[in-house]
Amino acid sequence: MAVASPLFNTLFSKTNTQSPPLRRTTIKCTTTYPPSPPPTTTINTNGNTLAKYVPFISISSSSPTTESYSLDDIVYRSRDGGLLDVQHDMAALKKFDGQYWKSLFDSRVGKTTWPYGSGVWSKKEWVLPEIDDEDIVSAFEGNSNLFWAERFGKVHLEMNDLWVKQCGISHTGSFKDLGMTVLVSQVNRLRKKLKRPLVGVGCASTGDTSAALSSYCAAADIPSFVFLPANKISMAQLVQPIANGAFVLSIDTDFDGCMKLIREVTSELPIYLANSLNSLRLEGQKTAAIEILQQFNWEVPDWVIVPGGNLGNIYAFYKGFKMCQELGLVDKIPRLVCAQATNANPLYLYYKSGWNEFQPVKAKTTFASAIQIGDPVSIDRAVFALKNSNGIVEEATEEELMDAMALADSTGMFVCPHTGVALTALIKLRKSGIIGPNERTVVVSTAHGLKFAQSKIDYHSRKIQDMSCGLANPPLQVKANFGAVMDVLMNYLDSRAS
Ligand SMILES: *Cc1c(COP(=O)(O)O)cnc(C)c1O
Repeated sequence: MAVASPLFNTLFSKTNTQSPPLRRTTIKCTTTYPPSPPPTTTINTNGNTLAKYVPFISISSSSPTTESYSLDDIVYRSRDGGLLDVQHDMAALKKFDGQYWKSLFDSRVGKTTWPYGSGVWSKKEWVLPEIDDEDIVSAFEGNSNLFWAERFGKVHLEMNDLWVKQCGISHTGSFKDLGMTVLVSQVNRLRKKLKRPLVGVGCASTGDTSAALSSYCAAADIPSFVFLPANKISMAQLVQPIANGAFVLSIDTDFDGCMKLIREVTSELPIYLANSLNSLRLEGQKTAAIEILQQFNWEVPDWVIVPGGNLGNIYAFYKGFKMCQELGLVDKIPRLVCAQATNANPLYLYYKSGWNEFQPVKAKTTFASAIQIGDPVSIDRAVFALKNSNGIVEEATEEELMDAMALADSTGMFVCPHTGVALTALIKLRKSGIIGPNERTVVVSTAHGLKFAQSKIDYHSRKIQDMSCGLANPPLQVKANFGAVMDVLMNYLDSRAS
């Protein structure tokens, strides 16, 4: 450990001798739920019957399988190397009707009752039904604002029912918090309750995943390991895991090289792998879909637009909506749109080929850096979600996404470039008439705009190569003198009046 200043040493040694040991306090739930739904007679023998891992293929193709794993198993892939999915015991959940679930979820919004003040854990029975409340690691993530984009919609798109789900206004500034609270809670249970010899959690991420991982691990006193490609990361992307005390390795390779190394390391050392094929994260992310329905008083929007890179999130939204339909909370689901950057658009090309042939691409640099992925892990999940929601895939060039971001900002938002990708998809679908003027549409904003301030600075100072930056609003340099200031103000007011 690094050495703190002498002042800190004295402060800490004093408090340590005087204070009782730190303990996580839990407040007991006061609602009448549970009774937990009774376990059913499934093949699982290790007691974990309400939710388990099954091969994703058994969900998407409904081919029967007996392969399943307890959520307490440390397993990332199915026997044949495919994706896994968390399967809930729907029969047990169906013992309660839609009205029951709506009232239960509504009764928990905004409460401090542990852990239901979290937007994720207020849906605990649908997420990780069997984890003990005291094992949960939560920052009361979720419950994010559903912003009525009134001016953007009315002025620029002739729409009056346009909404932005602000998933990035969150604990670490991105929707990754929704998934990480679930993953880290499960790891916490494995370590503390089940005494598994896990020394920590690791990931190879340059941005939002490592920020969320290190924060939740720090809150639970679990070591986190972040593998980063050396000199390919800005200080802004680095500072969150550093501040949260992660063990940050700067490795002389690219992102794919880091990913390969962390996989090799985690197969040798008992470090839990928090990468994006991990299906636990999607269980938390799907609650954003449920929350949207809840915020509309259980009315279903016509469209939901999600920016996609590794393509887990688009499936998570589908899964959340679908569960609400299957359990009788709503009677339909929205049409989903996945929006990709043209510089990293393998799903878009696949869609355009009529789902004919999938080809990974070599992703080029994009301002939407979190979706700069050419060979998405969750491609099968995304295709399943889109086919079953009458979905659409759109794309955005660098200029389009930056202009869309600037346009949204000029109406009072402060969105990230990924949200700019989703907004571009909206603009295109609105122009072509596919999305009608009165259709209720939700654009999912995935990160806080402040995390991407540098791209906005580059845009507004017109420093981006081959981009006209048509909406740039650079500051004016003025002498510190009354006449000069009055001159530029009068000029400005005249130009606005004419
Ligand atoms: C991770 C991330 C995405 C992409 O989500 P996928 O599940 O990989 O498609 C989009 N935007 C932001 C800001 C992200 O951090």
